[in-house]
Amino acid sequence: MDKTALDSLIFDDSFTRALPADSEPRNYRRQVIRSCYSHVIPTKVSKPTLVSYAKEVAAQLNLDSDACESDQFTQVFSGNDLLAGMRPYAACYGGHQFGNWAGQLGDGRVINLGEIVNPQGERLTLQIKGSGLTPYSRTADGLAVLRSSVREFLCSEAMHHLGVPTTRALSLVLTGEKVKRDMFYDGHPQMEPGAIVCRVAPSFIRFGNFQIHAMRGEMELLKALVDYTLRHHFPHLGEPSKEVYIAWFQEVCSTTAKMIVEWMRVGFVHGVMNTDNMSILGLTIDYGPYGWLENYDPNWTPNTTDAGRRRYRFSHQHKIALWNLYQLANAIVPLIGETEPLEEALDAYAEIYTQQWLSMMGKKLGLHTINPEKDDALIAELLAILEWVETDMTLFYRKLANILISRNPSKDGGDEDFLSIFMDAYYQPEQLTSEYKARFGRWIQSYKSRVAEENIPDDIRQKQMNAVNPKYVLRNYLAQQAIDRAEQGDHAMIAELLELLRHPYDEQPDKEAFASKRPDWARNRPGCSMLSCSS
Ligand code: AMP
Ligand code: MG
Repeated sequence: MDKTALDSLIFDDSFTRALPADSEPRNYRRQVIRSCYSHVIPTKVSKPTLVSYAKEVAAQLNLDSDACESDQFTQVFSGNDLLAGMRPYAACYGGHQFGNWAGQLGDGRVINLGEIVNPQGERLTLQIKGSGLTPYSRTADGLAVLRSSVREFLCSEAMHHLGVPTTRALSLVLTGEKVKRDMFYDGHPQMEPGAIVCRVAPSFIRFGNFQIHAMRGEMELLKALVDYTLRHHFPHLGEPSKEVYIAWFQEVCSTTAKMIVEWMRVGFVHGVMNTDNMSILGLTIDYGPYGWLENYDPNWTPNTTDAGRRRYRFSHQHKIALWNLYQLANAIVPLIGETEPLEEALDAYAEIYTQQWLSMMGKKLGLHTINPEKDDALIAELLAILEWVETDMTLFYRKLANILISRNPSKDGGDEDFLSIFMDAYYQPEQLTSEYKARFGRWIQSYKSRVAEENIPDDIRQKQMNAVNPKYVLRNYLAQQAIDRAEQGDHAMIAELLELLRHPYDEQPDKEAFASKRPDWARNRPGCSMLSCSS
């Protein structure tokens, strides 16, 4: 029989080759010490069916549509079938959850199928999420439900197409089995459809992978893991040494800052920025109770588990990233022997973040240059205005591009009609008091004179603004509608959103409805504005 495209995948596990394995072959829940991972076989499922796959990710693996639509694909990415060369494993990591050290966490429901080398020579790790118990499953079941799997599948692809660094998703399959979940931990468990997403990234190493060894005093292991990470994922920094460790930490600070700036640009709230959910490569990882800002509210978090303290709210994400980087610094400091260089890198993080955030905000406003003295105030005033009345963030920036600078101000900004440009972005038009109109009018005037200084023709500025201010994001209610339909067996909306979100910056006239602000029914509906960690 001919080899299939899947059989032709080349597996080469650098992670497991370089690092020590758990010597216990039995798969039961426990503390796994002096090891970076445990070999574990995915649990077989009864009736896997393919819901969707991302063709761009498949192409990275050199898999065409025939390969992805084959029964073998569904069997492999549901964990039922192993390909030659696959030796699955779950990684050991720890983490700070909501600010407290939580000890060993690890891949509790993720199983790495292996690392492939594609024809371009790129290495990608494939892992399936929701495929049964591992030694790291703690008190949970190792499974994932359809709603959270749809959310991870669609959002990681949407983020990629928005230009935000992220892990990718290859496939979404239903297992054919039911999983019990008490969504709001309030004593109302329900049986939900089980599902598995296959995630793809150059590495899934998290801050927590380093922390666990440091916390356990496993210094040799810590060094082995850091050296592995450097050699395989930061080869441009050179052979591991004290200087290279420092340069590495500086780079992690800077890629993390960039990732958060991108989240702020598109209005993404991760929701659970625990240190086990922070990628060492600065990728957005672990899509759980995340959400998209609808009305611009810097204090918003979608995660009901965090509703009291709002530790992971939109406007705090850069501070939490810094807190997490401190924890990583604490973990690796024994390899460096002094704290100063790490402290300098952490101080530099704040500067990098501020500077990149300002430059990103400038781009959102269509400015080519940034003059912090003037532009800080312009941006601060805009954000205060956006927060003052319920204003849809995504729609607002898209509409701002329609303000014309070249026209006579009396025609579109000197009077009240500039407000009509933004009407669709307001959730409660009755909030538009004369005080609001006057203040926003003044802002529009200063914006217009600031943009006029740049001397960019309106059409060019519009184009540039529309390339950084998305038209389509995975609005919380859209994901929920796709989930509601999928739970009834209709997967069409998943396919439709996947296609829509491939081109988030383009006008897609027949898809205008997906750009609308959140409908009123979704304001307080679970899944739309409130999510829990239950998944
Ligand atoms: P998360 O909050 O999703 O980042 O998960 C935190 C930790 O709990 C990770 O170690 C996960 O692997 C683990 N975990 C979450 N859900 C489950 C589950 N259903 N079964 C086993 N482990 C889980
Ligand atoms: Mg996690």
